[in-house]
Amino acid sequence: MGLALQCKFYGHIITVDKALAVRDGAEPQHRHDLLFECDKCGKPVRPRAAGDKHVAHFVHIRQNPECCYGEPQREY
Ligand SMILES: [Zn+2]
Repeated sequence: MGLALQCKFYGHIITVDKALAVRDGAEPQHRHDLLFECDKCGKPVRPRAAGDKHVAHFVHIRQNPECCYGEPQREY
């Protein structure tokens, strides 16, 4: 398990910082058309900005338990 810090974007490996910049630079109506893919499993992911308890990383749009990139356990 680990956080995804890079992804595939139209065949190129990019960092999460780059992906966030791409997303933020896109017209709002085009943001959903941006296709970021997990570089391990190829499933769609989206960039998540850094927060209090995590660095910026990619999350699977649909969780993929078989991928070695996983989400940290939620703290309740
Ligand atoms: Zn994956």
